[in-house]
Amino acid sequence: MSLIQVHDKWFQPYISQHEISTRVRDLAGIIKNDYSGKIPLFIPILNGSFMFASDLLKEMDMPVEICFIKLASYKGTVSSGRVVTAIGLDNDLFGRDVIILEDIVDTGKTLSRFLPQLLHQQPASLKICALLYKPDAVVNPVPVDYFGFSIPNKFVVGYGLDYDGLGRNLKEIYQLVE
Ligand code: 5GP
Repeated sequence: MSLIQVHDKWFQPYISQHEISTRVRDLAGIIKNDYSGKIPLFIPILNGSFMFASDLLKEMDMPVEICFIKLASYKGTVSSGRVVTAIGLDNDLFGRDVIILEDIVDTGKTLSRFLPQLLHQQPASLKICALLYKPDAVVNPVPVDYFGFSIPNKFVVGYGLDYDGLGRNLKEIYQLVE
């Protein structure tokens, strides 16, 4: 097993390129089936989902729209707590079948703050598709309608996910060695 070093930490191979591509193809097939006859609007969240979104969407041989966004988090008023807003969301969501693409749902805090803003625009449907899902880490539950892999509450890098800016370009997913 070949360990890799990212900054000061060591990571071990966890989910191989082959396992990822097989699962991503399966997921695309399931989504394609669920949205047959519709034109879904995919909203991948940058930076982490860029590889996942690219591979998944290449498998969607049907008409789809794609709008990449970035989320910005800032401190709102005392009553609202932290606020998460989208940068680059220029599509009207009213009546659309929207699918959010995320790299990982960990605590669920980010999406639980962001979803109400999307629902406010009254999409016909709103689903979440995450490559990775850490059920044991959830603090603010969000409905993860599609996920690639359910994983334990351990830090991972690669395939879009970074550790302090590095590791996003790794072809496979690595897990922190503790
Ligand atoms: P949340 O805790 O709000 O569900 O996750 C927010 C973001 O934290 C994710 O989109 C992801 O960018 C980052 N994150 C959560 N868990 C991990 C992890 O294990 N590894 C990496 N690299 N990023 C993570």
